[in-house]
Amino acid sequence: MDFLNKYQKDFEEYDRMEKDFIDDERIWEQLNRAANPSKAQVRRVLVKAEKKIRLEPEEMAILIQNQDPETIAEMYALANQLKREVYGDRIVFFAPLYISNKCANNCRYCGFRRENKMIERRTLTMDEIANEVRIMINEGQKRTVLVYGESPETGIDFICDSVRQVYRTKSGRGEIRRANINCAPLSREELAKLKEVGIGTFQVFQETYHHPTYRQMHPAGTIKSHYRWRLYAQDRALDAGLDDVAIGVLFGLYDWRFELMGLLYHTIHLEEKYNGVGPHTISFPRIEPALGTPYASNPKYAVSDGDFKKLVAILRLSVPYTGLICTARERPEVRREVIPVGVSQIDAGSRIGVGGYRETTGNMLPDKEQFQLGDTRSLDDVVCETCTMGSLPSFCTACYRAGRTGEHFMEVAKSSFVHNFCLPNAILTLKEYLLDYATERTKEAGEKIIVSYIERLDDEKTKNFVRQALRRLEQGERDLRL
Ligand code: SAM
Ligand code: SF4
Repeated sequence: MDFLNKYQKDFEEYDRMEKDFIDDERIWEQLNRAANPSKAQVRRVLVKAEKKIRLEPEEMAILIQNQDPETIAEMYALANQLKREVYGDRIVFFAPLYISNKCANNCRYCGFRRENKMIERRTLTMDEIANEVRIMINEGQKRTVLVYGESPETGIDFICDSVRQVYRTKSGRGEIRRANINCAPLSREELAKLKEVGIGTFQVFQETYHHPTYRQMHPAGTIKSHYRWRLYAQDRALDAGLDDVAIGVLFGLYDWRFELMGLLYHTIHLEEKYNGVGPHTISFPRIEPALGTPYASNPKYAVSDGDFKKLVAILRLSVPYTGLICTARERPEVRREVIPVGVSQIDAGSRIGVGGYRETTGNMLPDKEQFQLGDTRSLDDVVCETCTMGSLPSFCTACYRAGRTGEHFMEVAKSSFVHNFCLPNAILTLKEYLLDYATERTKEAGEKIIVSYIERLDDEKTKNFVRQALRRLEQGERDLRL
């Protein structure tokens, strides 16, 4: 069958629907109605947000439209408070692994788009994947997201083989313990296969929720031009039995205010349909320049650094229990600004060229990359900075491996258990990193942070468990967790 018609039959389910859950006009009406809110209106929403209740679109619209510096400062302060209450000031680290840049789609903003003749196309072989993974492990990575274009070479069986290869690869005392996936939307049958190989989160970014903009960005005749096939990708993943799904927007394609509302409507749709389980994480990349891709250098709705910080804080306030990912697309100074207002996961030491870990130490492979990174510091540098700033780097993968995913993860996240599970596990995985991979400077900063976070643990029993486990790690055991 022609590759581009692969999902033709599956599309019918969506073509029959009268409407989907994104109503462009309604979103604009809600935003317009909330224009110029008073301080009192903003503060009413903040009172609700402080209780860690997911906000409604009308409430999010008020925060979005707020232009008053005094109450914006209050929004930032509360976002920081919620982040500390829910996540205990941990930052989870991961790094992407680009498997293939071959793509049959033609998204206007992406360096991998079919018509771009300026990049070298490549799909890693299983041996090459193992080589890349060994380098990642030796730098200290434990979590990855595997990234694929959409092409006949990277069908579901190839994706499953590549996941198995990642988990199978070991180096020294290390291994990748959680592989998330960022690939094109799949059918339920394909997603069931992903469940079998034990992926972590299944990520698909809608790019833009605005229907007309989506059409302009994704030329007709490509699989990606089908808006609803993408919009319901997470539904199919949950139907197929996957527990953790992730959503995202590529900021710069359309008005950021509309897109935030889209993310919230998507969250509400999933929560209503799947027993209160919304997306596990939300990503909010901004478009970065890419070789041979003029649109990416000059996006029509480029988001300023100031608005970017505001949108991260609004997400934190609106969906308190959803992880927020800020990628290394952002420059270090931007990441320092936005992490405190809500981010729970970052990547570091990332290479986004296919084969990039073997071929470079920094990231400079423009002819194989999807776009250009803003933060090219090493994992060690970013771990060191995180400790110095008083946050706790975590490489933890315990919840997913103990089956605390989906509904069960939410139960844990919404209770004070998070501190009893996540903080000890973060401390222990940081210790592994310090023992096996860190420079002297990072070891020093990390040991200090470990001492201060043990003090913050609620009860003596947990403190004792952690102290004992730290000694066992020093004696050579690995992968200790609650
Ligand atoms: N091909 C799959 C898809 O499109 O869903 C997954 C891989 S794609 C490389 C991953 C994400 O990269 C896209 O969903 C998009 O949001 C993001 N992206 C594309 N072009 C970008 C650019 N110029 N700058 C930053 N992010 C970009
Ligand atoms: Fe292909 Fe994904 Fe890039 Fe679009 S965003 S061109 S689908 S890799």
